[in-house]
Amino acid sequence: MSWIRRKKTKQISVGSVKIGGGAPVVVQSMTNTDTRDVEATLKQIDRLHKKGCEIVRCAVVDKNAAYALKKIKEKSPIPVIADIHFDYKLAIASIESGADCVRINPGNIGSFDKTKEIIKAATEYGIPIRVGVNSGSLEKNLIDKYNGPSEEALVESAYNWIKRIEDFGFYNMKISIKSSDSKTTVLCYEKISKLTDYPLHIGVTEAGSSMEGIVKSVSTTAILLRKGIGDTIRISLSEPPENEVDVCYELLNSLHLRKKHSIDFVSCPTCGRIEIDLIDLVNEVKKRLSYVDKPIKVAIMGCVVNALGESKEADLAIAGGRHFGLIIKKGKIVRKVQEDRLIDEFTEVVNEFLQEKS
Ligand code: SF4
Repeated sequence: MSWIRRKKTKQISVGSVKIGGGAPVVVQSMTNTDTRDVEATLKQIDRLHKKGCEIVRCAVVDKNAAYALKKIKEKSPIPVIADIHFDYKLAIASIESGADCVRINPGNIGSFDKTKEIIKAATEYGIPIRVGVNSGSLEKNLIDKYNGPSEEALVESAYNWIKRIEDFGFYNMKISIKSSDSKTTVLCYEKISKLTDYPLHIGVTEAGSSMEGIVKSVSTTAILLRKGIGDTIRISLSEPPENEVDVCYELLNSLHLRKKHSIDFVSCPTCGRIEIDLIDLVNEVKKRLSYVDKPIKVAIMGCVVNALGESKEADLAIAGGRHFGLIIKKGKIVRKVQEDRLIDEFTEVVNEFLQEKS
């Protein structure tokens, strides 16, 4: 039995991808190309798809972007969500262009009558809506009631929108509550998860870039995932979106929620016993084996002290020595190689192993 008991949410479909109701946590990202530039957007979607991205969101900034979605949809290998702010007509145009879902923030759409028009179009085309609430567009009465965009205010806003949309007879939705603050994000999702069974899209908004953004996003979403909360995830980074997908899979893989279709690397943290340039070695091995699309485990250790023990857990391992390296397969030393031949020979052993497996 899994160590994470995921909350059973209602299942919805975004195109062919199931979200919630026991489906695996779905990885998504967002293009940062101009959606009106169909070719550039499709190229980026293709790169994201190759990384394993399962759903992509595109910003719809005007009518031309909404029309461009039609061409994007025709060729996209994965479902496309239209990201809408302010203008309900753009949501309707995107739905007519074939979007698989629209993401709206009812708080910035204006009157509820406009949201109703989006709901009518989504109903007609049979697609879900992502209802997204965030601290930047919270209703003034809730900000006054709670003295700011607190988690209570955000959750009340989301819950109120869910109820209003349900009262209008629409139930095909997923929910997100985004804040750039980790604590607020965790508390919001914990609360909304108790109040509703709709699938939840989790993530931290405007998390930042590189280490800071990754740590903030991963630490926050990992807490939620451990509690069984979260049906689809985006790690928002100020970086190329392809990196977001990599981080999502590393996170889901480390929590045993998804299996990577690539190598799971383990490497030692290095210490005073190190006898080889491990950092370069790890980077080079990762580069050389980037073509591997099987979930095998590779360990790269800086010395022989712990390597044999540690590498028993791995399919294949390298243990560095002074000017040489041991290549270990399933805990057994299979080659002892000069340092300058180590990567070439290790690649050979990996290929042999993959052949044996297949
Ligand atoms: S494997 Fe060797 S070099 Fe790496 S941390 Fe352990 S003892 Fe140190």
